[in-house]
Amino acid sequence: MTYLNFDGKELEVGKIVCLLRSYAAHAEEMGSEVLDEPDFFLKPPTTIIRDGQDIIIPKESNIVHHEVELAVVIGKTGRFIEKENAMKHVLGYSILIDVTARDIQAQAKKLGRPWTIAKGYDTFAPMSGIVPKADIDDPHDLDIWLKVNGEIRQKSNTSLLLFKISEIIASISRVMTLEPGDIIATGTPEGVSQIVAGDKIEAGIDGLGTLNVGVR
Ligand code: MG
Repeated sequence: MTYLNFDGKELEVGKIVCLLRSYAAHAEEMGSEVLDEPDFFLKPPTTIIRDGQDIIIPKESNIVHHEVELAVVIGKTGRFIEKENAMKHVLGYSILIDVTARDIQAQAKKLGRPWTIAKGYDTFAPMSGIVPKADIDDPHDLDIWLKVNGEIRQKSNTSLLLFKISEIIASISRVMTLEPGDIIATGTPEGVSQIVAGDKIEAGIDGLGTLNVGVR
């Protein structure tokens, strides 16, 4: 089991639901159209690592990318959640890096196969500590950035997210029950790029602090 600390208590992590193509500039850099409603895939909770740990590059991949994302942590169970009530289901926020084996993903796309392998290796979801919802005034206006070895690679703002968090929660909960400890990674802005063994990654989001991980 994977646990995160929240407010001095251990929170068991459920599923990690990840949005795709939720920033126009990232969809464009991937050569994809934006979506008119949220679409998503899952990462297993065993992908999570914490601040100070290392992303491990799998032997099977030669191109691993970082994707910095605002993560929404669910605090209350719900199915068919109305947009209007959706924010009541949010416990807090965190920084999540959706690490992706880009070459494996490209092959899967070409063959029409799932992304589970490209997205699912252990260590492929570094996460910062959870900040309570009440501490963030407006989650749709936060600077979000990522540096590799001190050099800025991704820099954007959550105002450019194509879907509101309430809309994302409503959309996911039409398919699957959202439960306490579930995490929604809201998708990445542009600037994704390769990381290699020895790199030092620092990611930050306004109000959520920073997240530092290595690569090996
Ligand atoms: Mg992503």
